Amino acid sequence: MNSDEKSFKVLGLSSNILKAINDSGYTKPTDIQIEAIPAIIQGSDIIAVSQTGTGKTASFALPLLHMLSENTEHRNGSARALIIVPTRELAIQVGDSIKNYSSYLKIKTTTVLGGKNINPQMIALKGGTDILISTPGRLLDLYDKNAINFRSLSYLVLDEADKLLDMGFEDELNRIISIIPKKRQNLLFSATFTEEVRLLSAKYLNSPIDIRIKEEETTAVAIDEWIYPVDKGKKNTLLLELFTDRCWHKVLVFVKSQNRAKRLLRFLQNKDINADTIHGGLTQFARTESLDRFKTGQTEILVATDLASRGIDIEELPVVINYDLPHVPENYVHRIGRTGRAGNSGIAISFTCSEEFEDLVKIERQIQTHIKRLIIPGYEPTEKLKVSPKIKPLKAKKPKKNKHIM
Ligand code: AMP
Repeated sequence: MNSDEKSFKVLGLSSNILKAINDSGYTKPTDIQIEAIPAIIQGSDIIAVSQTGTGKTASFALPLLHMLSENTEHRNGSARALIIVPTRELAIQVGDSIKNYSSYLKIKTTTVLGGKNINPQMIALKGGTDILISTPGRLLDLYDKNAINFRSLSYLVLDEADKLLDMGFEDELNRIISIIPKKRQNLLFSATFTEEVRLLSAKYLNSPIDIRIKEEETTAVAIDEWIYPVDKGKKNTLLLELFTDRCWHKVLVFVKSQNRAKRLLRFLQNKDINADTIHGGLTQFARTESLDRFKTGQTEILVATDLASRGIDIEELPVVINYDLPHVPENYVHRIGRTGRAGNSGIAISFTCSEEFEDLVKIERQIQTHIKRLIIPGYEPTEKLKVSPKIKPLKAKKPKKNKHIM
């Protein structure tokens, strides 16, 4: 069944949830929502492999809200549903989405994350909460301080399970699962189905329904991808020129290190560009602030490390630039997946100098595609980029002038 054939009304959700969905402007459920929502309401464990940007947050949040509001069990200092996410940014985003979806319900949602003062979070958890969204380490800190218990917990969501494992949270996950009730419903979401994810699900899930929407191994068709070959020393001016010429209003620029992020930010700010940065060297407060300013259009360029490459949802982001290619090819897919979301189209441009050729080869192997090259007049590289071995170059259509210019 595809999403054209179904409306939210037939998925079994209560009218107060349907009202909030309507307020969010969603007219029909996405494929993952069609598959996951009825299965969850019916009480099954699920393992869902779905690309980010496919509406997966709503696919677990809506049925959870439905079930929690139908059963008004007392919280008794406990969390009734626990959502574990790998990053602080994702925690905030999931928390915000759930607050929107529950605007007509009496449901308490609490988001806690590391890098912030724990005391206000302990106060927020007084009496328990219906839905607790947390990064793994902070959850255990709060539990160890008796700020929360899990006696009435019925639902566990592991969001971005592959990333949780990649980031080395396996021990924390094992401990969390050892302190929550054995009788519970488990919902596991992952962008990729790795061996580690399979083992995790085999260990903790109970006859899960397997939902595969689209594994994140290749990039979305809605994204127009380009390589702009350029010498390393000219990347700054190329970025500046493109930004001004093409009148982009919102550009996410990925670099490979915190130092390069700081240097590029200084360059852009010296040119009076309204830019900001997000990387692991900043406090959580500063990271949240700069992401918020970018999301709300107060800054036009956000220079980011791979910290922002996954899970983050930025509405109407037309352009992603890889100022540096990532060393890990999967990160290319995650980075450019920040654009072309929720049915919109997007452009992903990668500035590539000759010393990044090896990284480019790995990326093209990963996505099994030859990415179109475009040399910008005035930026001809001193050394021509070769074609990746074993990847057949597509007959690259000569781009129409301004075709990919927003
Ligand atoms: P996610 O995959 O959860 O990060 O969601 C990606 C984006 O899709 C978010 O901006 C959601 O608000 C949006 N979204 C989720 N479900 C729908 C839907 N049924 N129709 C339109 N947009 C949606």
